[in-house]
Amino acid sequence: MRVAVVGSGFAGSLLARVLTVQGHDVVLLERGTHPRFAIGESSTPLANLTLERLARRYGLDDCYDLAAHGRWVVRFPELERGLKRGFTFYRHHAGRPFAVDGTRTERLLVAASPNDHVADNHWLRADVDHHFVRAAVAAGVEYRDRTDVTAELLKILGADFVVDASGPGGFLARQLDLPSALHRMHTRAGLLFSHFAGVRLFADVAPGLPAGPYPDDWAAVHHIIDEGWLYSLRFDHGITSAGFLLRDPMPGTPEETWRHLLRRYPTIGALFRDARPLMPLAFRPRVQHRLTRAAGDGWAMLPHAFAFVDPLFSTGIAWSLRAIERLASCFENGLPTERDLSRYDALLGAEADQIDWLVAGAYRAMARFDLFAAHAMIYFAAVSYAEVSQRIHPDRDVAWSGFLGVGDAELGGVPRASFRRLAHVRSGADRREFVKWVSNSIAARNVCGFANPAAHHCYPVDLDVLLGRHAVLGMSRQSLVSALPALRGFA
Ligand SMILES: Cc1cc2nc3c(=O)[nH]c(=O)nc-3n(C[C@H](O)[C@H](O)[C@H](O)COP(=O)(O)OP(=O)(O)OC[C@H]3O[C@@H](n4cnc5c(N)ncnc54)[C@H](O)[C@@H]3O)c2cc1C
Repeated sequence: MRVAVVGSGFAGSLLARVLTVQGHDVVLLERGTHPRFAIGESSTPLANLTLERLARRYGLDDCYDLAAHGRWVVRFPELERGLKRGFTFYRHHAGRPFAVDGTRTERLLVAASPNDHVADNHWLRADVDHHFVRAAVAAGVEYRDRTDVTAELLKILGADFVVDASGPGGFLARQLDLPSALHRMHTRAGLLFSHFAGVRLFADVAPGLPAGPYPDDWAAVHHIIDEGWLYSLRFDHGITSAGFLLRDPMPGTPEETWRHLLRRYPTIGALFRDARPLMPLAFRPRVQHRLTRAAGDGWAMLPHAFAFVDPLFSTGIAWSLRAIERLASCFENGLPTERDLSRYDALLGAEADQIDWLVAGAYRAMARFDLFAAHAMIYFAAVSYAEVSQRIHPDRDVAWSGFLGVGDAELGGVPRASFRRLAHVRSGADRREFVKWVSNSIAARNVCGFANPAAHHCYPVDLDVLLGRHAVLGMSRQSLVSALPALRGFA
């Protein structure tokens, strides 16, 4: 079969390679060229687990090595990446330095890995995407860059099926005149971003910070502010990717807004005091996009072409890889059937909604740190349960299990219910009630002991906690102990 993949980000290139390995005749079409700058850099345990599954199933040994920090550094030292040990959150208040105040410190640390060797990575996308496109070419994909892709070109190329991997480029949205479904989305944010040299470590600007389960900065760092939040992703070679997600547009140039926010939040200001942007600060008034359909007769979209919500919780790479796994399974016996495509379409639609409930709920909760930390537990419970159960039961249908609890009778409705509840939280009593409600709502999937007041918002990877939760996985303690080798990357 002749398949055209439009867009050679890591996702388009990887899918093109997998389809070629399956024996399809694939052309990968790119309007730009590599290497090129891109954002969307922070990987997660679920992303890496999918990379490992793709590696095993299709013989892609580079993907296996790129799925853990230690293996990556040894095998591909020339591809820049950043050690990511977990998810770090701080709540800043305007006009005040970040307050280190014992167990009342507004800091949440959730470890994603027990050590640096099996840890996740931030991907320097210029390097990583270039690697994936070269690997696709080496596998036999026909690659054409600097190409203006049109319906006519696809006809000339004899494409039987088109995969849109053009991200927000929206190739098929325009070709097929697909309506936008952005009105469904509750999340709304603009983005002010760049890459920087010389960003300081948080511990250097917030003295007295107690040690957490991993060094705070070697993580996806989220600084929550009244206007939204700032992501900060540190690469091993000293460059940091950072960007403010802002609920409302702010007057002035990007540089003026940047300086204003650094002045308003003194500890963030101190972090970036000596930082130098490596390219001009850029502003996008709205980062969200969403279409009405993700697949149809003879075509399918990868997630980033279909919808994007927000960088919060780093869902993009994991979601894209899961979709690659699904589409690849549809191509194993020829072209995807109508049933395959409607299943794929329905799942992506439900998952885009789910990410939106989670993220929009988090924005609602940002006003108060206790609310935010509680709401975030829904995300961490969903992904850790998925990770542990996928490692223990690595059967083929994993690819089609819903992302972030979609389709799960216990957890599926929780993000939406949380978003709705948060609209009515007013008093201190409401907040305490909400925290309790989250704890109960995630209990049936809470394999890592989240929402535990005694943890004071610091969650290491803790094998004893996991073993104590064997019943959540429907296992005896002994059978979970026997399954521990399968959890190697996790614990
Ligand atoms: C601000 C921001 C931060 C993010 N942070 C994270 C994060 O921390 N973690 C995470 O997991 N995800 C994150 N994401 C999401 C992540 O960026 C995406 O999931 C990821 O980029 C998807 O990769 P892709 O290959 O599908 O698409 P892209 O990376 O968007 O690549 C699309 C490719 O298609 C090409 N193209 C576009 N139009 C055409 C056309 N008409 N013809 C031919 N080629 C075309 C482009 O040149 C590009 O090479 C973030 C996204 C944003 C916006």
